[in-house]
Amino acid sequence: MRKNIVAGNWKMNKNVIDAQQLMAQLLEYKKANTTNCEVWIAPPSLYLMMARDIFENNEIGVFSQDMSEYESGAYTGEISADMLQSIEADGSIIGHSERRQYHGETDSHCNRKVKLALDKGLTPIYCNGETLEQRKSGQHLEVVKNQTEVALFTLSAEEIKKVVIAYEPVWAIGTGETATPEQAQEIHAHIRSLIAAKYGQEVANEISILYGGSVKPDNAKEIFSQPDIDGGLIGGAALKLEDFSKIIEGFN
Ligand code: PGA
Repeated sequence: MRKNIVAGNWKMNKNVIDAQQLMAQLLEYKKANTTNCEVWIAPPSLYLMMARDIFENNEIGVFSQDMSEYESGAYTGEISADMLQSIEADGSIIGHSERRQYHGETDSHCNRKVKLALDKGLTPIYCNGETLEQRKSGQHLEVVKNQTEVALFTLSAEEIKKVVIAYEPVWAIGTGETATPEQAQEIHAHIRSLIAAKYGQEVANEISILYGGSVKPDNAKEIFSQPDIDGGLIGGAALKLEDFSKIIEGFN
């Protein structure tokens, strides 16, 4: 059966001292507690090697926040799938809405990145979700359908099984505004049914679909209790062990 996952997206936060401190706290927490989900973090790429060293026995999954759609070469500022593989990172977030909004990423870029990540043995966490305008005008199901098809439906069944999907309605990210558990469940079930129609129910049942957008200690349990929600991609509340651990315990 599919995995439950709580993943922390640190975004552009923390200096090296603070990053190391939180990683050390997470390691201690993970050693002292049995969790009913996998715990992953995506720190800034500068700290990925340190994270791999700290979590050397894979206590916590180590992910980048983005990776290049190109294999290597003259792409200033980018990091490649090969580099991530070479430091034994577990995977990469792909297509986060902030990458889409501020760096012009589209689902075609995501499609190339997802494929490249899989080719290098990395797990892609592919993000999608509608804007507030799209939801207000009732387009959310259609938007998420198009995103999922363009980004993922060139993959084989074996490949798509290795993808983790994060549904993150743009209007709920960093706004304190959360989708209700029912709103999130509706889209998660929709995504799973699209995958089932294309690849079969068995494949669809194996794919973890995370919810992201203002998940906090006080709403995590209810969100995670929905049948098609397999965990969360957490931004702001992943920056302190106190909050992040309570969200992890949403699976207890
Ligand atoms: P948030 O961010 O939890 O701060 O809303 C979620 C995300 O962007 O992944």
